[in-house]
Formats: sequence, C-alpha cells, structure tokens
Amino acid sequence: MSKPTPEVYERGRGMDAHNQVMRDIRSQKDKKYDPHEPTRVWLDEDNTPDGVRQSLTIILNTGGCRWARAGGCTMCGYVAESVEGGSVAHEALMDQLQVCLDHEAENADEPSPLIKIYTSGSFLDEREIPAETRAAVAETFAERERIVVESLPDFVSRAKLADFTAQGLETDVAVGLETATDRVRHDCVNKYFAFDDFVAASEEAEAAGAGVKAYLLMKPPFLTEREALEDMVSSVRRCADYAHTVSMNPCNVQRYTMVDELFFQGGYRPPWLWSVAEVLERTADVDAIVVSDPVGHGSDRGPHNCGECDDRVQRAIKDFDLRQDPAVFEQVDCDCAATWRAVLDEEAAYAMPLAR
Ligand code: SF4
Ligand SMILES: [Zn+2]
Repeated sequence: MSKPTPEVYERGRGMDAHNQVMRDIRSQKDKKYDPHEPTRVWLDEDNTPDGVRQSLTIILNTGGCRWARAGGCTMCGYVAESVEGGSVAHEALMDQLQVCLDHEAENADEPSPLIKIYTSGSFLDEREIPAETRAAVAETFAERERIVVESLPDFVSRAKLADFTAQGLETDVAVGLETATDRVRHDCVNKYFAFDDFVAASEEAEAAGAGVKAYLLMKPPFLTEREALEDMVSSVRRCADYAHTVSMNPCNVQRYTMVDELFFQGGYRPPWLWSVAEVLERTADVDAIVVSDPVGHGSDRGPHNCGECDDRVQRAIKDFDLRQDPAVFEQVDCDCAATWRAVLDEEAAYAMPLAR
C-alpha cells in the first residue's frame, strides 16, 4: 500500500482554510501535560467477537497526532491534550504504561483479557510510538487475550501488527474512519484520507491475521439531524464488509475545536440520542457487532434528548451494545420523540439547529 502523508492530502484540496482556522483555535490552549502520566486509563466491559470481556482502556500521552498539528479534524480536542515539544521518549511511555498497570492492579480482581490502547493520534505511527515501545507493549500484554490499537490507515502495516500477532494475541486495529462517505469525511470532518484507504488498511490488517474495528462519528458539523442519521446508516452497512466491529460515536463538543466555535455561536447541536438508537435499530441486521458509547450524554455539549429521558435511552443503548438486540428500544419512549421527528422532517442546512 502506498504511504501518502497528511501534508500531501492537504495540498490543493481546500483543506488549508479549515486547518488555518483550527490552528488559531488551538493556539488558545494553555494547559501543560506530564509525559510520564497517561492521558487517561479506565476499566470497563466490552463486546468482542469472543463475547463480553473486562477491558483496560489506555490513552497514552504521545507527541500528538500529526494531522492535528497541521490543524486537524473539526471535532477533535485530543491535540489540546498532547505534550509540548512533539514527541515522548520510550522511557516516559513505559512509565505511562506502568501507571496503567498499577491502576488495573488496584481496581480489578484479575487482569483484563481485553486491552485497548489509544494515543492522541496513531499508535502505529513511529513518530508517536517508537518501534521499541511497540514491541515492549506487545510483550507486556502477551498473556492477555486481545489487544486493540488505534491508528490512521496510513500507518497500518503487517510488519508492525506482527509484533502483536506473534505473541498469540488476537489483534485489532481501530481506525477512525468517521464515515464511509468521502465528501462528509473531507468537508465536515476535515479528515484527509478516503474510504479506499480504509479498505486498503483493512486488507493489510487481514494479511497480518488481525481484525479491524471501525470508529464512526455521528453528526459532524454542517449536517442536519436527518443527513447525519442517514450518513450513519449507510456507513455502518458499508463498514460491516471490512470490520468485525463498528463503534459509532455521537459527536460531542470538545474545547479548542471548530465544533466548539460553532456551538458557542448557536450553529451546532450534538445528535439526539433518539438518532443514535434509530441507527442501531436500523442496522441490527448487519454482519458485525455495532456499538455506541455516547460520551457526555444528557448534557448540552453531548448527545442529548429532552433531559427527562436521556438516562433511560442511554441505558437502552448500553444494553444494545452488550446484547445486540433491537428490542431494547421498544421499552423507551418520551414526548420529546415527537420534537425529534419534527426536526428530522423540517431541519434544513441553512437554518440549523432547529431545536436545542
Ligand atoms: S480525530 Fe484523529 S486524525 Fe483527526 S485530529 Fe484528532 S487524533 Fe488526529
Ligand atoms: Zn425526552
């Protein structure tokens, strides 16, 4: 597979303007982060191809995503979390890993079979995670069952994935595809790669004996609720041909992003939880695990309904994640579903959001 760089994608594609705006917004950040501490670590439960498993999720603090440094995606606040100066050394990354292992030892009865590692960018980008660190991570978790590492498609190669598969680990690459529609990914998310690149990365992963987990973004800016919903239904269907798991994340409003600016000026509303439920219901027949974990649900800056029913709908979504049974949505209803339906029918791109 060819290895185009973000810079090449940016050139001549009208992305310069998006990137300029986002560089300006991000220059407002003033917080500093310690390179010896992970960005975040937590324990949870996840649905995997082998069943539900306890998971340890690790977000390593690396130099940050290359694309984010150029300007980056319209909704992504990760770059505001990355370390000053561009890269984090092997030793510091190993310190971060130790903090995560200590967290697990203190809070879980047993080691988690599933390990998920994210960075504020791409784990398989050697500017973020040197080959030495990648090999050490694979060795550290050799006794676990499955590992998921996040990467942009450019950096996926069978040689890198072999570090993990050689340890006998079930290995998945999580790719932030966001949408299967190139125009939406390019113009609304400002992400530089194409669906074909995702397909090529999934073939590369398959050749390494690894699987693919696709991450989708529901409702980037500039789409109506209806457009966002239909974009997700078609994206889940297209992704299911290449990924064994599709994780659809509703957009939330993160600081120092273009979405934040739009939100502040009344030009953006995160998706309704009803829309999330509808996508899961309508795609329940696909041959892939489809899950969603609405972050910040029920708040103005996160996916929300009316405030009364948010917790109930969120519970149904979490229930669906583990059981994959669309019947969970039959139990929840609320008067605000009528407002949501009116928004789906009436909202137009020139006058949105139609309701808060
Ligand atoms: S969403 Fe991913 S590719 Fe886009 S700026 Fe954030 S970390 Fe980089
Ligand atoms: Zn409601």
